Amino acid sequence: MASKRAITVAYGDGIGPEIMEATMRILEAAGAQIEPEVIEIGKKVYESGVSSGIRPEAWESLRRTKVFLKAPITTPQGGGYKSLNVTARKMLGLYSNVRPVQTLQPFVASKHHMDLVIVRENEEDLYAGIEHRQTREVTQCLKLISRPGCEKIVRYAFEYAKSYNRKKVTCFSKDNIMKMTDGLFHNIFDEIGAEYPDIEKDHRIIDIGSALLADTPERFDVIVTLNLYGDIISDIAAQVAGSVGLCGSANVGDQCAMFEAIHGSAPDITGMGIANPSGLLNGAIMMLVHINQPDVASKIHNAWLRTLEDRIHTADIFVPGKSERRVSTSEFADAVIERLGMMPQHLKPVSYGDARSHAWEPKPLKTRPREEKTLMGVDIFLDWGPDNPNKLAEILHSFENPKDLKLTMISNRGVKAWPDGIPETFLTDHWRCRYKSAETPGVSPINHTDIVALLNHIQEAGLDFIKMENLYAFDGVKGYSAGQGE
Ligand code: NAD
Repeated sequence: MASKRAITVAYGDGIGPEIMEATMRILEAAGAQIEPEVIEIGKKVYESGVSSGIRPEAWESLRRTKVFLKAPITTPQGGGYKSLNVTARKMLGLYSNVRPVQTLQPFVASKHHMDLVIVRENEEDLYAGIEHRQTREVTQCLKLISRPGCEKIVRYAFEYAKSYNRKKVTCFSKDNIMKMTDGLFHNIFDEIGAEYPDIEKDHRIIDIGSALLADTPERFDVIVTLNLYGDIISDIAAQVAGSVGLCGSANVGDQCAMFEAIHGSAPDITGMGIANPSGLLNGAIMMLVHINQPDVASKIHNAWLRTLEDRIHTADIFVPGKSERRVSTSEFADAVIERLGMMPQHLKPVSYGDARSHAWEPKPLKTRPREEKTLMGVDIFLDWGPDNPNKLAEILHSFENPKDLKLTMISNRGVKAWPDGIPETFLTDHWRCRYKSAETPGVSPINHTDIVALLNHIQEAGLDFIKMENLYAFDGVKGYSAGQGE
C-alpha cells in the first residue's frame, strides 16, 4: 500500500463544489492514498480584493505538495482581474496541458469515433496577457513564442506519444500567416520530431486542421499545438466526443502538476445538482497516475466506463430511449462507487500498469550556437490622424535622419500605405514607420544612439510615438516580417 500523498485541493466556484465533492467521494471509496489540503481560490478571493484570486498561504500549500486538484473557477468580468488558471499554470511552470479525448459509443452519443490526445503549450502565445491600448482606435495583444518554450512542449508531445504507445504526432500551426512565431513552432516540431523516427509526423494549418478534427477526428492521434489553438480545439474535440463535461486535463511542469476538468464553472446549471462530474474525475485519474497510484486510477476509470455502459447518465449526455437512468451529480458518483472493482463489458478496459512506464527523464534543452545579432533599422509606431499617409511622409522627411537611416515604408495595421498606397485601404490612427539602414550582414550599421536621435526628431516634429521595434538580423537572416504589399 502506497503511503498517503499530500495534495492541494480547491473546490472552486459554480458547479465546482458539486463535482469536487462527487470526485472526492469516489477517490476515497476507491482507496486513493491521498491527504487533501483544501485551499480557497476564485470568486470569493477575488471579491475580497485579491486581484489574482489566490492568497499567499494557498501558494505555500501548492509549492509544498506540488500536486493540485482543482475545480473550475469563475473569473469575474471586467478589468483588474487576472485569470487564476493562467496565473497558476505560469507561476508553477506548468508548460504542458494534456487533454485526452475519447468517444464512448454507443453509450455516449457522438457522430464520430476518436481517441486522441491534445498536447497544448500552456505558458506562451497570446496568453502572456500583455495587452495595451495604444491609440484611441487601436488595442494590441502581444504574441510571444520562445524557442525553449516550443522545444519543451514538442519534446513533451513526442515523449508522451512514445510512452503511451501512440503512433502519430500532428502539429497544428498558422505558419502560412505568422511565419516567425508559428513558423518557429513548426520548425522546432520538424527538428525535434526527427529524433523520433518510429513516430509518424504530420503538420496541418490550424484552420483546416480544426475542420478535419470536427469532421474526421479518427485521423488524429496526438496533436501538439500553441496555447490559443489548443484551448479552442480541445473544447471542439470534447464537444464532438459527446460533452465538454466528460474530459479531464493535466497541466504538467518539471516540478508541479495541476489536474482539472476542461470545462468552466457552468453558472447556468450551478446549484441544480445536475453537473457531470466526469471531467474532474478524469482529471483526478490522471493525477493518480502522476502520483504513482496507477491501480486506483485503473479501478476508477473502469468503474466509470461501466457506469456509462450501464447507461446511467447525467443530463448533459442523457438521450431518451438510449440512456437508462437520468441521474444527479451525486447519484452518478454513487453509481461509480457501486461499480468499483467491475470491468466494462463492451468498452475497452483501462490498465495504467506501472505508472513509471509513463514517466520519462526530462531531456536538457538543445544547446545552439549563439547567433550574431545585428541592428538593421527600426519600426516606429505613431498615433496620428487617421489622415493622408503622404502628409505623414512629408513631415517625416522634414528633418535630417541620423546616419543612413532611411524611411522605407509607412504601414497602417500592417498594410503598406506609403509609398504607393492605394485609396481603397482603410486607415486608422495607428502607423508604423519603417526605417532601415544599408544592410551589411555582420556589421551593425546603426546603434541605439541613432534610434534615440531619430525619436527626438520625431517628437520635435510634434508626432506622438507609441512604441518602437528594432529590426535585427541574426547571422545575416532577417528577424522581422515584410509589410503587406511592401
Ligand atoms: P463552461 O464550460 O462553464 O460552460 C459551457 C456550457 O457547458 C454551459 O452550458 C454549461 O452548462 C455546460 N457544462 C460545462 N460543464 C458541464 C458539466 N460538468 N456538466 C454539464 N454541463 C456542463 O463555460 P463558460 O460558460 O464559458 O464559462 C463559465 C465560467 O467558467 C467563466 O467565468 C469562465 O471564466 C470560467 N472558466 C473556468 C475554467 C477553469 O477554471 N479551468 C475553464 C473555462 C472557463
